[in-house]
Amino acid sequence: MLPQEKALRLAAAGMLPAYIYDLDDLRRHAGVVIGAVNGAAQVLYAVKANPDARVLRALAPFVDGFEVASGGELAFVRKLLPQAWVAFSGPGKTDADLRLALELGVERVHVESPGELTRIARIARGRPVDILLRANLRPPAVNGQTTTVTPFGMDEPTLEACLPILRAAPRIRVRGIHSHLAWGLPAPAMAEVAAYVVTWASSWLNRHLPGVEHPEIDLGGGMLVDYADPDSRFDWAAYGAALAALRSPGPLRIEPGRSLSAYQGWYVTDVLDIKTSHGQCFAVLRGGTQHLRTPVARGHDQPFTVIRPTGRTPAYSGTITLVGQLCTPKDVFARDVSVTGLSPGDLIVFGLAGAYAWNLSHHQFLMHPEPTFHYLDREGAS
Ligand SMILES: *Cc1c(COP(=O)(O)O)cnc(C)c1O
Repeated sequence: MLPQEKALRLAAAGMLPAYIYDLDDLRRHAGVVIGAVNGAAQVLYAVKANPDARVLRALAPFVDGFEVASGGELAFVRKLLPQAWVAFSGPGKTDADLRLALELGVERVHVESPGELTRIARIARGRPVDILLRANLRPPAVNGQTTTVTPFGMDEPTLEACLPILRAAPRIRVRGIHSHLAWGLPAPAMAEVAAYVVTWASSWLNRHLPGVEHPEIDLGGGMLVDYADPDSRFDWAAYGAALAALRSPGPLRIEPGRSLSAYQGWYVTDVLDIKTSHGQCFAVLRGGTQHLRTPVARGHDQPFTVIRPTGRTPAYSGTITLVGQLCTPKDVFARDVSVTGLSPGDLIVFGLAGAYAWNLSHHQFLMHPEPTFHYLDREGAS
């Protein structure tokens, strides 16, 4: 649903560029996801996708908790939602991060390496800590997507190096396995990865840590958001059914970020100038990718809709590249896209900007004004 009216009002009030988040639709969408998963797994929202306070508060009643990936996110979530169930992930946790986790209390720490485990044991000084060991596996469905070896978590030999450290630290309780392996897979591939991880985790724990009863298996996030086809959605019903059919030795957990919040955010701006250069046409928009870095970071065209305020004469039809106000050729939202009758003053509403958008961007670059932020929130307002 396009926030058309809101966009026009903001333009008339001179408040562009602007981010609009539809919290009502976010609640509806979260309800659909939770309904489809239907208890087959606990659902944590991955805060790094969009840590906006109102987004987190809107999601809180639907999800089982939050996955944080830094000491900063941990402190923020604990302050905003003191009762929330929190899992603490992320490579490169500092001693200060780990002390904060013990001080504020987190439900799970996802351990990334034997070195980190050693530091947790030292910092905890006999206090209990519930952990998941993060496994870095290479299931075939993921290898088809990328062959890049990531630094996250531990392969089998590295996991085994944790065993003597655990024996020496009996208050560090292994509760199961964490494994976030996918970066944008559709439901059938996600289901394949889940089956692989559950089978592997059951067998590995049986062999090496048979004392862990009903081990938790956290399958991570990475559900596909298709920027080339914004109307297609991850098949949550199929994924939920696949999770329900798995024979897991203990509770399953998932950590969607992008697929929960991407669809309910928009970056709205307007066309400042249209010009031709060496046979190519450019529309220069107010703002830039310092506000919405997503298309640059991922190398895609950000999907958009044009809204024409009444009384303007259509000027340009054809292929055009949408750029921002930055003095770099990388400041491109969408390249060689087709428009009909675009003119200066038209509004461009970029969709799928509710995740890895504003919070991913380099806001300070060039010191243009920052966007204003707006929320569609009938439920929160009533
Ligand atoms: C980023 C991340 C997620 C969320 O991934 P999405 O692609 O946004 O669903 C979940 N878990 C971990 C450990 C992550 O790093």
